[in-house]
Amino acid sequence: MPLPRAGGLDLGGTKIEASLFGPDWDVLATRRRPTPTESYAALLDALAEEVAWLRDQARPGLPVGLGMPGPIVPRQERFIAVQLPLAGERLAADLAAATAGPVPVENDANCFALSEAVAGAARGAETVFGLILGTGVGGGLVAGGAVLHGRQGYAGEIGHTGVPADVLSALGLPVFSCGCGRRGCFETCLSGPGLSRLARHLAELDLPPQEVTARAAAGDPACLRVLEVWSAIAARLIETLQMAYDPDCIVLGGGLSRMPGLLEQLRAALPDPPHYGQMAAELRLAEGGDSSGTRGAAIMAEART
Ligand SMILES: [Zn+2]
Repeated sequence: MPLPRAGGLDLGGTKIEASLFGPDWDVLATRRRPTPTESYAALLDALAEEVAWLRDQARPGLPVGLGMPGPIVPRQERFIAVQLPLAGERLAADLAAATAGPVPVENDANCFALSEAVAGAARGAETVFGLILGTGVGGGLVAGGAVLHGRQGYAGEIGHTGVPADVLSALGLPVFSCGCGRRGCFETCLSGPGLSRLARHLAELDLPPQEVTARAAAGDPACLRVLEVWSAIAARLIETLQMAYDPDCIVLGGGLSRMPGLLEQLRAALPDPPHYGQMAAELRLAEGGDSSGTRGAAIMAEART
């Protein structure tokens, strides 16, 4: 086995994934287990076991990082993540004590962006926005190989900014309620559940998102129209990202990024020539697949330890 350089953990609501990475950030070994949600102690034990497993495969002191949902700023001790028994607990300090060394923690969308910027589709780009179109809509910004966190860890949480009124008006859409408590967020239309919502509203179809994209790929006119509307809204989100960050590259990830012909649809929906600036957005599909979360956590750990 090539010499491992770092390990990463990805903590989700249903599973914990642990991966060991080699010289080119290639996966050398990986394993998954269900996330214990019954107690904080059980969750901490499981994470500590995975750190120990990674170091057993490599060496003591191997840099290991943890990616997880929720806003995270470096050196913060308490984290917020719905579905996980973490309220009021000091996860970073407890995990460091249980594993005899620091295990830096990073937001999972930031891990995705870092993975793609350093070792994925945006290798070599200076400023990279990683945009996740999945169960939710989120993202992270990497500049010069480092994640921008902002003051409270919210930088890049673009899914909860609003769809512009002119877009809703032109497409004949209402202002949908969002899970965050507000109305009209991009996430209400662009997430997987958002795509289903558009299908219900525009075509009276009650379908899971993957069925909408499959029917559109097969030429179903109603689902093609739904995807056209979805793409028009996604194009405005991309223009919003250009105005906010002007990144060299935008990498698309999450379940909806796997729909057939996504890049072509988005490019067709974006104004040509661009409304803002001279150059069209550089759009790419994520390369890291399911290992982006653990890879980003490992890259972050190597840089910080
Ligand atoms: Zn929202």
